[in-house]
Amino acid sequence: MKAIIVGSGIGGLSTAIRLAAAGYEVEVFEASEGPGGKLKENTVDGYRFDLGPSLFTMPQLVEELFVLTGEKMSDHFQFQRLETLCNYFYEDGTLFHSYADLTKLEEELKQKAGLKTGELKKYLKTIERIYDITAPVFLYKSLHRISSFLNIQTVKSILQLPFIRSSQKMNEMNKAFFSDVRMVQYFNRYATYNGSDPYQAPGTLNLIPHLEHDMGAYFPKGGMYSITKKLYELACRKGVRFHFNQTVSEIIVENKRVKGVKLNEGLKYADIVISNMDIYPTYRKLLSKHKAPEHLLKQEKSSSALIFYWGISKSFPELDLHNILFSADYKKEFDAIWTFKTIYNDPTVYINITSKYESSDAPAGCENWFVMINVPHNSGQNWDQLKKEARASIIKKINRILKTDIEQFIQTEDFLDPVLIETRTSSYKGALYGNASNNKMAAFLRHSNASSNIKGLYFCGGSVHPGGGIPLAILSGKITAELIMNDLPC
Ligand code: FAD
Repeated sequence: MKAIIVGSGIGGLSTAIRLAAAGYEVEVFEASEGPGGKLKENTVDGYRFDLGPSLFTMPQLVEELFVLTGEKMSDHFQFQRLETLCNYFYEDGTLFHSYADLTKLEEELKQKAGLKTGELKKYLKTIERIYDITAPVFLYKSLHRISSFLNIQTVKSILQLPFIRSSQKMNEMNKAFFSDVRMVQYFNRYATYNGSDPYQAPGTLNLIPHLEHDMGAYFPKGGMYSITKKLYELACRKGVRFHFNQTVSEIIVENKRVKGVKLNEGLKYADIVISNMDIYPTYRKLLSKHKAPEHLLKQEKSSSALIFYWGISKSFPELDLHNILFSADYKKEFDAIWTFKTIYNDPTVYINITSKYESSDAPAGCENWFVMINVPHNSGQNWDQLKKEARASIIKKINRILKTDIEQFIQTEDFLDPVLIETRTSSYKGALYGNASNNKMAAFLRHSNASSNIKGLYFCGGSVHPGGGIPLAILSGKITAELIMNDLPC
């Protein structure tokens, strides 16, 4: 059986490795010059930058790909568990370190962020339960096949669904658990991990910090891009053939069966086609002659990001790998993004510095700053103007909180905005995570991993089930490959 994958994002790589390991002949056609999609890197004047994702969780999902191909992950890909997850700075002068060690973290939060005895443990236990109930149903299986629901574990999970707090908002749930507003803001922030709004998204999403606090956050040796690099190399070793600078313009369908794809240089035939392109342009461009599932495509998209990549000619010991400089009014910030579709004038600033862990990522005495704020997805805003204003607000905030004059240390500068994200990866409206998860039914309103009416057509990546982010994109590859092996065994 021959499979063609459109796109080599993390979901495409994960699907390719699984299919190749199962004996399928796999070819990947990628529009850009290399693999990785949103997970790429760039080097400027001795500074290396990861261009997209900066947080690595659930490394076991990467390990699974090595194991199923008979390789030992540590021979190729290494990572370390972070002892400090992130440094948090508040406008009122509060600064705390979010330690991975729970005893240390509790002490830190009690001393610095008004945490009361018992609050953290009770919360973490509750969100662990939400994760345990939801993960088997929503993360690891297709939601669109009856067979997914026919096992004891899933039935058990379904019976417990009333406990997943889907009728409460994240913010309401966090307010009920924590007496100090700084703690509420801290846990509300996790809504941004899938591009959502904590004031609208269901409390169920409070399971996200469970991933960091219980399962850990990691730093891959060589930076985030090494996830792409090592999976790409693994795929090549398993015989997957990659073709870069090859844009697929159509998925060919005859008699409700895929026949292959259309490229500039002609047609390529296959028994199976898997689109790792965002589901919206997949329908609008590659399947434009076919009926699209409009109710799924019209769902609200996730937020996007504005990033400045700065080579900084100074070292800041008070900063770590992950750093957050919180806005003073989080509600106003999310209202700006979601209601007014603009950028708040005091945005929360995230600074990621991989040179803290990988000294070769910046010249000696310097640091590679990835400075990101959450912004709305693109709906035609004047991004040049917004970027200019946001840059000024970011600099003011960094200067105020870190008591510095950062502009004088910026040696190199580049940026990424929602328009560029869409141009470079075809992600509709530059959304980072496909659909937003503000709606409590969002999990059921993502496109399935298989076409319901075209045989041999499948989908993977952050815009389809189970959702965006590296772990879920990898899982989408697992679900998609398993469906293919079941439907069209080779
Ligand atoms: P994508 O990365 O969307 O790649 C799709 C690929 O398909 C691209 O290479 C594109 O060129 C190719 N393609 C599209 N159309 C065609 C065509 N017609 N023909 C051929 N090829 C085509 N996730 C985390 O887990 N942690 C984070 O910290 C994090 N932070 C993020 C920060 C930013 C700035 C961004 C942009 C994303 C972030 N994410 C994060 C999300 C994460 O990057 C994505 O969810 C994940 O990488 C999406 O992978 P994907 O498989 O959907 O493919």
